[in-house]
Amino acid sequence: MDDPFKNAQQQLKKVNRYLKLPAATLRKLLKPQHVWKKTLKIPSYKSYKTYKSYRVQHNNALGPYKGGIRFHPNVSLSEVKALSMWMTWKCAVAGIPFGGGKGGVVCDPHKMSEEELEAVSRAYVRAFYKHLGPNLDVPAPDVNTNSKIMEWMVDEYNKQQTTNNKQQKKNEILATFTGKPVDKGGSLGRTEATGRGGVIVLQTLLKLIKNVDKSLTIAVQGFGNVGYYFAKIANEEGFKVVAVSDSKGGITTLDQKSKIKNQNYEQIDIEQTLKCKQERGTVAGCYCLGSVCDIKYKEKFREITNDELLELPVDILVPAALENVINEKNAHKIKAKIILEMANGPVTPEAEEILTKRGVIIIPDVLANSGGVTVSYFEWYQNMHNERWTEKQVNDKLREYMERAAKEVWEQFMKMTNDKIQISNQIQNSKFKINLRLATYALAVKKVAGM
Ligand code: GLU
Repeated sequence: MDDPFKNAQQQLKKVNRYLKLPAATLRKLLKPQHVWKKTLKIPSYKSYKTYKSYRVQHNNALGPYKGGIRFHPNVSLSEVKALSMWMTWKCAVAGIPFGGGKGGVVCDPHKMSEEELEAVSRAYVRAFYKHLGPNLDVPAPDVNTNSKIMEWMVDEYNKQQTTNNKQQKKNEILATFTGKPVDKGGSLGRTEATGRGGVIVLQTLLKLIKNVDKSLTIAVQGFGNVGYYFAKIANEEGFKVVAVSDSKGGITTLDQKSKIKNQNYEQIDIEQTLKCKQERGTVAGCYCLGSVCDIKYKEKFREITNDELLELPVDILVPAALENVINEKNAHKIKAKIILEMANGPVTPEAEEILTKRGVIIIPDVLANSGGVTVSYFEWYQNMHNERWTEKQVNDKLREYMERAAKEVWEQFMKMTNDKIQISNQIQNSKFKINLRLATYALAVKKVAGM
């Protein structure tokens, strides 16, 4: 199904077959509480350019709305609504006191100058500032937005407060946005948090499913902030990242013929690959890494396309880029036994059905990538209380939150699996297909609905 919000609603309806929420509660959760739309007008040579933009506030039962702002040509209202609902579940699963929100601007940052980017960022805040605030709605970075953009946004928000004679304290103005630069009220560890959180979730679940193999092979699609830090930290923790890619292509240490995993395959040097990408603008072609570009090094790598990466015979596949990359067209070609969704919505419902039937474990986005928003909460908390935590404090707390979230999801999964046996005994051909996504949603929705 191509409509992301309908997909998100379907997922909720599906879990409700198990939860059986009161009809009024279900109705409420199926819709966002507020949808704000604005056209941003940016002066351009003798005229102006316009950009469609959105802020959607799905639910605030557990705390202020929370969620990133995405700059992308494919942003649509349906997508922002879906992402805001997913934020509600994500914050609930992570156990942080926030609800779900999301923002987006239809634009292509790769074709914009820095001045244009700044103008759009500031115009976004002017358009929505009434709906934002530390106890109301707290945005953050998302696809194509970063700490620099948050810095401009804080500054514009501050200006708007002054213009409108609002007397908010400085620390509360800072707490209105997370993912800020560290020297501008940001938190240490926030940049790495999504990737680090994903590694912790993976480690925790592997222990629970009693997979003790220390050197599982991993392919990571996407080499932005999330993919890069995930790959780097996964290697540091002893996994073997054997393939990485960005939108233009990738590299792997697996040879063409390999059908099964080979313990001797080498980890990819993630920092070297980043340096190479920065020099050449792409990961593809980075098998020849600068000074170590000799025959011996070349032999270890080969170039692959993004599609090939998804189909590699690795233990764990990590889509860390955009939505719907694993769909009904390629689901039957996936060889990994575990998929860790570091992007939001990378596996379509149709693909999930095919994969779940084949016994592939999908660790869902709202759990897998919740490390980012968790450290956003720590940042917000530090701002609100005028505190500054060390990187160790942040990382230790992140581990505590992620381990607890993964364990709670696992317990819910076991409970639903047992319930299913009971239900199946009573009703032949029960339609429930219990998987980790269903369990994660059940856990999150119960918390939001106050059950
Ligand atoms: N954009 C990130 C996400 O989708 C982070 C959101 C936040 O920190 O508020 O989880």
